[in-house]
Amino acid sequence: MMQAYLLNASGPIPENGTPLIFSKVHKPIPGAGEILLRVLACGVCHTELDEIEGRTAPPTYPIIPGHQVVGVVCRSGDNADRFNNGERVGVAWIYSSCGVCDCCLRGLENLCKKFRATGRDENGGYAEYMVVPQDFAYRIPESFTDSEAAPLLCGGAIGYRSLKLCNMIDGDTLALTGFGASAHIVLQLAVALYPKSRVLVFARSEAQRSFAKNIGAYWAGNIGELPPLVPQSIIDTTPAWSPILESLKILAPGGRLVINAIRKEDRDLFMLQKLDYTRHLWLEKEVKSVANITRDDVSEFLLLADKLKIRPTVTEYSFTSANSALSDLKYTKSTGAKVLVMNR
Ligand SMILES: [Zn+2]
Ligand SMILES: [Zn+2]
Repeated sequence: MMQAYLLNASGPIPENGTPLIFSKVHKPIPGAGEILLRVLACGVCHTELDEIEGRTAPPTYPIIPGHQVVGVVCRSGDNADRFNNGERVGVAWIYSSCGVCDCCLRGLENLCKKFRATGRDENGGYAEYMVVPQDFAYRIPESFTDSEAAPLLCGGAIGYRSLKLCNMIDGDTLALTGFGASAHIVLQLAVALYPKSRVLVFARSEAQRSFAKNIGAYWAGNIGELPPLVPQSIIDTTPAWSPILESLKILAPGGRLVINAIRKEDRDLFMLQKLDYTRHLWLEKEVKSVANITRDDVSEFLLLADKLKIRPTVTEYSFTSANSALSDLKYTKSTGAKVLVMNR
């Protein structure tokens, strides 16, 4: 048996609520091509809030959430010989894809209709152990601690995908709208990859704005403020619609807005009535969403983060504090990334 957090139903998370139930469940057994991990750390992500509160495709209940998992291989199933026992590996949001559809064959396995998400469609890392197909696990570079590596597997990797979709060249100005776990990694990545570029950050909280300036933003202001430079690329990570209009307003001609959000809230949907073709879209402005991640995104990003010495800012929680970590994520405008650590 093992200890794990179970999500049994979706619904709003009240402050200090306990949406996840700490339970004893059977320890999973790796099947053919799979490996069993003893979990060392698991990141806490906004997508978990979306999942618990019912804004994503519903999971198969009960489900163990968690999709930024760092663990050590402790058993391999039949035909699984990619890793040795004792190796430290990571698991990301992509748990599996079909491998044979048009999307998969074109390198877009993130868009596969049979895409299965870790911690939503298959049990994830809010547990002592988890099982994953060996082909969907990644070696973790030694330079990262367990808790530093966890947020690289989601916020970092999807941030990297968002940045790739921007098609930036060195010297372009990049703007980030919203400044959570993903954006704070993208900022460091952009500064390292494009030394001539400047990064603007739009965030509602003063703490997030000063944090952004401390880790390399050229300028930080509130959403709706006029920045000192015109961005060729913007990455939006907010759940709202109004930042989309504000972003399109300031985007350079021919520029691209990449929306990295699993779902937009309906409460400011009326803002879209203000969408003005001339002001927001004319002059070849582009809008593109980013969905899920591919294995290449994760493995490329882990190597890059190691080489460029990218370090996420992390707040550690003990494994038994998952519900507090989720409540803090929803109710406090904190900076950096939150991670559950097993032996804390
Ligand atoms: Zn995530
Ligand atoms: Zn497929």
